[in-house]
This record gives sequence, C-alpha cells and structure tokens, in this order.
Amino acid sequence: MSIYTGPVFEMARKQFVVIADHLEIPEDERDRLLYPKRAVTVSVPVHRDDGTTAVYQGYRVQHHLTMGPTKGGTRFSANLDIGEVAALAIWMSWKCALVGLPYGGAKGGVTVDPPSLSLRELEGLSRRYMQEMIPFVGPHTDVMAPDMGTNEQVMAWFMDTYSAYLGHTVTEIVTGKPVAAGGTVGRREATGRGVVHLAMRAAELLQINPSGARAIVQGFGNVGAVAAAELAARGVKIVGVSDHTACLYDARGLPMEALQKHVAARKVLAGFSAEAAFDPGALLAQPCEFLVPAALERVIDADMAKRLNCRILAEGANGPTTPEADLVLDGRRDEIFLIPDILCNAGGVVVSYFEWVQDLQQLFWEEAEVNQRLRQILDRAFNAMMARVGREHISHRTAAMAAGVEKVFAAKKIRGLFP
Ligand code: GLU
Repeated sequence: MSIYTGPVFEMARKQFVVIADHLEIPEDERDRLLYPKRAVTVSVPVHRDDGTTAVYQGYRVQHHLTMGPTKGGTRFSANLDIGEVAALAIWMSWKCALVGLPYGGAKGGVTVDPPSLSLRELEGLSRRYMQEMIPFVGPHTDVMAPDMGTNEQVMAWFMDTYSAYLGHTVTEIVTGKPVAAGGTVGRREATGRGVVHLAMRAAELLQINPSGARAIVQGFGNVGAVAAAELAARGVKIVGVSDHTACLYDARGLPMEALQKHVAARKVLAGFSAEAAFDPGALLAQPCEFLVPAALERVIDADMAKRLNCRILAEGANGPTTPEADLVLDGRRDEIFLIPDILCNAGGVVVSYFEWVQDLQQLFWEEAEVNQRLRQILDRAFNAMMARVGREHISHRTAAMAAGVEKVFAAKKIRGLFP
C-alpha cells in the first residue's frame, strides 16, 4: 500500500481515520474503503517545438468502482505525484457520495508546468495523455473533467481524441467541455457559484449582511475568479485577492471590474497594481467576513488557523486545511464557520454530472434549470450537514465527510465482497 506517499496523501489518510473512528468502522474494513482500487501511470511523449522529444509522467487514480463510474478532474501541475492524485481521488469519492451522485472518485494528471508549453505542445500532451488512458476510461468506467492547469479546450481535445479512436463522437467521455462541443451551460461557473451559494447560506445563519461585508479570495483561476465576481455581485467588498503571480490587498475594496478586465487580457493578476501589492503570507490572516481559499492544498496549517480573522471559511480548493489546522478550528467553532471543501466546491462535479446526463440523453437543459438543480442539491447537503452537527456535536468537516464515507461503506457492505 506504500506507493501512496507524501503530505497530501497523509492528510487524506488522517482525515479518514477521524471519520472511521467517529463512524466506528471496524479496523479490517478500513483499508478497503481508503485505498484506491486502481492507479495507472503512463509515460506521455511529446514533440517539443524545438524538434526534441520530451516525456512526461501521467497518472489516473480510480478510488472505488462501487457506485458507478469514477469521476474527477485532470490536473496539469509541476509538482504532481501519485500520492497527491490518490488523495484528490479519495476526496472526490466522499464529495460525490455526500451530494448523492452515482460516482466513485477519481483524479488524474500530468507532472508538467503548463506555462512551459506552447499551445501546440499542450495539445500534443493532452491528446497523448488521453490516448494512453483509453484502455482505462469510458463513459461508464471513468469520466474526466478539468482541474488545476486544464480547461475547456483541454477537455475538447480529450473528447476529440477518444472519439477519433472510437470512430464516432462520444461527448459523455469527459465533462467541462465547451458548450460548442457537447458541454453544458453553467459548468464553467458552477464551482464558484456553488461556493458563493453556500457562503450565503452560512451568512444567513450568522445574520451577516453580504452588502458591505469583506471577502478575501486566494486563487484567481476558474474557482476563485468566479467566486469573487459572484460575491461582488451580492455587494460584498473584495478586499484581497491573490494568484501565483501577485497578491493584492486594499481595505477599501479592490476595483473588481478593472481587475476582471486585466485578468481577461493578461491571464494573471501580475501587473495590475503596485500600490495594492501585499505579503501573500499575511493575506489569509487579514480581517474579513468571507475567506475563500481557492488555490492549493495545505495553505491553512495549525499556525495559520490560529491567525485566521474571518467569520466564514469557504473552502473552494480541495484540501486547503490540514488535519492539525482542523483541531485549531474545532476550538474556534464559535468564531469561524467552516464550509468544508467536499461540500463547498462540489458545485463543479454536480454540474459535471448534469453534463454527463445531458450527453447520455442528448437532451440539453436551460441554464436556469442547471442552476436551480445545483442549488437544490447543495442545499440538501448543507442542511443535512447542519442537522448532523446539531445531533452529534461534531465539526462541520466531520459531519460532511461522515455522510460521504458512510454512503460508500454502506454500498460496499450491501454489494458484498467477491468471491
Ligand atoms: N476537478 C473538480 C473537483 O475537484 C471537478 C471534478 C469534476 O467535475 O468531475 O471537484
């Protein structure tokens, strides 16, 4: 079982132990629930523009096949390893079960720094990665989606490559595609919209008026940028934002429209304002009502958890908070309302599910229907989490994860162990 190593996998394992203890899952059943069913590693050769050939390491981890196909994103990132991919696959399982999707979790990716590739090289890498994965994926086996470092264009290349191999168009092989290539309206915005919908549910419970409240958003990719825009649309003042190129803070509020225009043109925050430049290590600790980490794993450790100065912590990223930080946040329950990642960012996979269903049926929905069904699913999971917190006097994360883990456990139990 030791191919899964590293701090991110260790974090997923520790979280699982907390939940397994809470649910009193027998020791001998735990490995079957935690360790991935399948892990595929591939070498992905690519022709570089300079005429040389480079080989990249690619992965796909399918956590469990108990409830339907596996589902999850594809990450192109410089430091990716199999332990991180496995942890992300495990979180996808708890996330899908929590919100009631008929999927196990998966995740995949390539260890590559996407800005180091030209567009032609990126296409070559994307197509060859999918081609290498064809024996292991399928609309009823494993359905990919975007994640960090990939986007709609990459999903279109995946779909095209798979379809070319089969000899006919198979839109349901990946989700997060452009609408012009079998995608659904509302998928691009879904994760950020879900984050803000749930942040508003929390604000309502805490009687915080969003108008004039302050938000800090870490990460300005597909999740962070949409979340910031949705918060601003509700009158929230965005006082801090950051990405891997810049960190900006202004207690009076940042000019969101100008910021969005800048990012649309330049793709990154760098170069927007020297005046608002801020220490990235201090951003998360600034006072605000809404804090949205929407970038990397493990950015909130125990020390940062002590320094947080927010009222609502809405986890847009996967795994932004370490188990050690969770212990600190447990002690600060009355000060900080946590919306745990597997619920907070589930909007993406929920609308991916809608996309898959629409592709399978070739019957497409209006955006209002997508958004209304998205809110309904998130509300149901949020209400169930809050009810469980009240009943069992546990943290929000424990309540959400317990709901996911127990569903997978129940499905495995009732199906039995073959032979
Ligand atoms: N990568 C996203 C996540 O971590 C979306 C996965 C999907 O849509 O399948 O939830």
